[in-house]
This record gives sequence, C-alpha cells and structure tokens, in this order.
Amino acid sequence: MAEKGTMRGALRNFIAFIIIFVIVGGLFSLYRTTTESVGEVSLNEFVQSVERENVEEVIVTGNTLNITLKDGTKQTTNKETEESLSALLTNYGVAGEKIRALSVDIRGESGLGFWLGAILPFLLPFLLIGVFIYFMLRQVQGSNNRAMSFGQSRARESQQANQKTKTTFENVAGVKEAKEELKEVVEFLRSPKKFLSLGAKIPKGVLLVGPPGTGKTLLARAVAGEANVQFFHISGSEFVEMFVGVGASRVRDLFKRAARTAPCIIFIDEIDAVGRQRGSGLGGSHDEREQTLNQILVEMDGFDNETNVIVMAATNRPDVLDPALLRPGRFDRRVMLDMPDISDREEILKVHSKGKPLAEDVDLRMLAERTPGFSGADLSNLLNEAAILTARRNKTQVSISECLESIDKVMLGPERKSHVLSKEEKKIAAYHEAGHAVVAQSLPNADPVRKVSIMSRGSAAGYTLKLPTEDKHMHTKSYFLDEISVMLAGHAVEKMIFKEVTTGASNDLKEATRLARKLVTQYGMSETLGPRTFGEREEMIFLGREIHEQKDYGEETAAQIDREIQSIISKCYLKARAILAKMKPKVNEVAKILLDKETIEQNEFQSLFVASK
Ligand code: ADP
Ligand code: MG
Ligand code: ZN
Repeated sequence: MAEKGTMRGALRNFIAFIIIFVIVGGLFSLYRTTTESVGEVSLNEFVQSVERENVEEVIVTGNTLNITLKDGTKQTTNKETEESLSALLTNYGVAGEKIRALSVDIRGESGLGFWLGAILPFLLPFLLIGVFIYFMLRQVQGSNNRAMSFGQSRARESQQANQKTKTTFENVAGVKEAKEELKEVVEFLRSPKKFLSLGAKIPKGVLLVGPPGTGKTLLARAVAGEANVQFFHISGSEFVEMFVGVGASRVRDLFKRAARTAPCIIFIDEIDAVGRQRGSGLGGSHDEREQTLNQILVEMDGFDNETNVIVMAATNRPDVLDPALLRPGRFDRRVMLDMPDISDREEILKVHSKGKPLAEDVDLRMLAERTPGFSGADLSNLLNEAAILTARRNKTQVSISECLESIDKVMLGPERKSHVLSKEEKKIAAYHEAGHAVVAQSLPNADPVRKVSIMSRGSAAGYTLKLPTEDKHMHTKSYFLDEISVMLAGHAVEKMIFKEVTTGASNDLKEATRLARKLVTQYGMSETLGPRTFGEREEMIFLGREIHEQKDYGEETAAQIDREIQSIISKCYLKARAILAKMKPKVNEVAKILLDKETIEQNEFQSLFVASK
C-alpha cells in the first residue's frame, strides 16, 4: 500500500515537473520571439535608411537601436558599445543635417525586459534544479517522514482510556506468581506517596523473563491497563538500525518523553537485542548496541526516586543479558513466566474462547490435556485456527473436531494435500511411521503415541505424534534412551522390510545423534565419561546464529565422546531392531491401516495392542 502510494506520488511530481518545465520554456521562447518578430537589419542598411531620410524615429537602448521607418516597419540593429549614434553616423559619412533631422530617443538600459533577458539564461538552470530538489525532498518526507526523524524514538504510546479494549490482569490467565509480583508495581504507579513517605525505594526496572509466547508483552500491557497510566512500547531491535548513533539518541528521546508524561511505563520488548553482554561479539553493529545499552543504563540511573516512571523489559534469554542491567537500581526485579501447566492452559483457553461460540462437545480441560508444551500464544492461535476452520465449513459453532485438527496444525504446520506420494512412497512412509509407533508403544519410558499419520504436514511426509501424559520438567536417562530408540526405529524398519533406507529417515538420525551427544556432553549421563559437562557454550552471535562452542577438553576425550555417542546410538538401534523383529506382525498391521486410512488416532492404536496382550 505504502509502496503504491509513493509510486503514485512520484509519478504525480514528475508530471508537475514536466508541466512547469514546459510553461517556463514556453514563456522564455515567447519573450524571444517577440523581440525577433522585429526585423533585424545590418548597420549598413540602417545607415542607408538614414541617407534616404526614410527613418521616422530611433530609440537607443544601450547598444540596441530600435528603428521605426516612415512606412511603419520596425527594425532593430546593434552598434558598438563605445560609439555614440551621432559619431557612428558621422563616421559613415552621413551629412550633418540629416543626422540632426533624425528623431533620436535615448533610453537607459533598464526595465524588466532587459533584466530578464540578461539574467534569465543564467538563472533558469538554478531555478530548475531548485524546483527539482524541492520535489525530491517532499517525496522523501512524504513517504514516511523518515529522513528527518532518525534520532527520535519510535515508541508507540498508548493510553488505554477505552474501557473495552483495555488490557487488564483479567486478560492474562495463569502466571499467578508473576501477576502477584506485578500487583505491587501497579500499586507503586497508582499511589507512590504511600511508599515514598515510608522511605521505600520504588523499583525502577522490572524484567519479565519467560519463553516466547508466554504472555510477557501482554502482561506488561496489563500492568499499564491496571494502573491506568501511559504505556510506551518499543522493541529492542528498533533502537538499533542502519544508522550508527541512532540507538542512543532514541533512548534519550524516549526517556525524555516518558519523564514528561509520568507516571508511565516504558516497555522495552526483546531487550536482549540491545542488552547482550558487552565485549563478546562479532560484526559491526556491536558498538552501536553497546552505546544504546549504555544510554539505557545512564537514563535509568538519571531518574530520581520521585519520578514515577517504571521501566519494564522482556526477554527470553536472561542468560545473555549484561550483568550491569541486572544490578540493583536497574532491572533488579525479575518476574518469571513459565510455560503454562495443564490448569493454566485450561484458563488460557477459557480467556480466548470468549466471543467464540463453542459447541457442547468442546471440553477445554480435554484440550488442555492434549496440548502439553503449548504456550499461551499457541493456545490462542489454536482457537483462532479452529474458528477459521469452522467458518470455512459454514458451521455456526466451533466443535471438537475443528479444535483437534487445529492442534495438529499448530504443532506440525498445515496439511499439505498437494504433496502427493506415489504408491511406493506411501508404502515406505506407512512402514516408517508404523515402526516409530510400535517401538514407542513397546518401550516403557517413551511418551505414549497420540496419533500416527502419513498425511504430509510441514516438511515431513508423515508423523507419529507422541505426547507426555503430564507436563514433565525433568527427564531420566532411560527416557532419553527409549526416545532415541523410537527415533531410530524409522531407519530400522525400512531396512528390515525394504532392505534399503530412504532419505525419509535422515532427520530422525540427526535428532537421535544430537540427543545422544547432549546425553554425554551436557547431562553427564555417560557411565564412562562421568558426571561432567564437555564444551563451554559461549554466546556469540554471527548472522543471527550462535556458532561458538569452546572446547574445554583434549583430543583424547573428544575421541572418547565420539565413541560413547556411537555406543549409545548402536545400543538403541539394536533395541529398536529387536522390538521390530519381534513385533513384525503388528508393524504390518499398523502399516496396512495407515495405507488404508492415512491416520490412526490414539484410541484405535491402543486397542490394537490391548487385544494382543
Ligand atoms: P511474549 O511476549 O511472551 O512472547 P505475548 O505476550 O506476545 O508473548 O503473547 C502472545 C499472545 O498469546 C497474547 O497476545 C495472548 O493472546 C496470548 N497469551 C500468551 N500468554 C497468555 C496468557 N497467560 N493468558 C492469556 N493469553 C495469553
Ligand atoms: Mg513479546
Ligand atoms: Zn521418522
């Protein structure tokens, strides 16, 4: 839209420019032609006219002689600068009385015509350039006023005066501890006197810490809504842009604006974009970030206790923040937001189901059970997808089937109906997924299978959905080993049935290897290498990725780690293969159903095994 707007604006300016050019050009040529419509004659001809006493009048303007003949024709000619008209005629040998009989009018060289004629040719290019520059500037400004306001903060202000759209704690479900802590902040903003009179220091900075989508931004907004104060919202990355020095001045501008409107909240979203530890990076934007961070620190120190401005910030990477940010007097209050547990999820679903007509069969508790690992954002997305799906099916109420479909969509990406597998590929995919599912079912510590499918979703040809029965915060070694076996089962089953492996298993192998490495190097779960970690992860950002891992062990240990990973993988692989060999009839059965129906839900899958036991 904006693109189109500027395009049209450019075109309009260009046309205006052309029109002005034509008008100016036209005027100019008109001026020229009026002077040239008078016949220009040579000096000789003029002298002859005088000799023949044919001249009515001569008007001398500077060096130009405007001659009117007796018959009314007008002529013009030029003489030399120094010579007067009479001297000229005398020199040409015209008789004295003839000269005296001539009516001569001498005028000063002045008037608009002269000035225009003399100056316009020089002035015109400048004029045109000036007009051009003027239009260019207007263009740049008009497009988004950017060129002129680099240094101003682009924080969005919002005073949530409107009661209906106001965000309050009611809009935030779960995160009880965080809300409890922030109630204090609301109190500070509402009645600072109460605290100041007791000599209490009002906190200046509150850092919201939590994984993405857990409601940090939402909660900050809710605090402003509860306290009914102005809310300045800016994202860390907005401080740092292409232009060096912009960040610091934006910070200054933002804090100045905030101080004027106190009491208020400044919310710096994703503060890790500027607040990373100083002095440990690559790349050019680094200095800029440091300056911005320094400016934030300076400004926060600058607020005295009376200024009722509270700076809130959010991050999902508190580990990379510069320690200076966390010092007392800065972001010394930390509020943690966790991923929602099952009852939080139910509440979040309740909040977001407002305004969406749910059918009788929708049980939010059941949906919450089915969505471990979902963040608040995922849950709100889930209900939104369900509503969209319902509308597309021309139904008036969101029923459970739409909700369940949306869970898969949010978790794995949209179904790819166009991604059609050939018959042979379908067979391989069916066996591959059957292998995962059967091994997962047979191992006691692996997560139970929720769904097996050979519908393409996202980038996978098929998927086996396994979810823990409850939210898990800790994992055991046997859980990891079983998980690795399940991952390798895809490869093992392909080898067993088709005597050959496809590329479909490559992602499984990668994941299994990564997990095995973690077991050894991070979790200290290897018997031979013992309870220690290997490799110091250091934060270094290059093109948005962490690339650095410092080796804090020798070559020999490295070889040992490799051997250990190898041994874990091969043990797990053998386990998977043994299970598959034993359960081959089941694998065949599951694969057949998959080829038939493409998807098996949890209940049906479980019943296959109950019968045989
Ligand atoms: P973050 O800033 O932590 O990444 P957001 O605050 O932007 O997450 O959350 C994104 C969306 O997810 C919110 O707008 C809201 O709709 C939903 N959401 C997240 N957490 C909650 C929660 N605890 N209660 C209600 N809605 C939530
Ligand atoms: Mg956010
Ligand atoms: Zn697989």
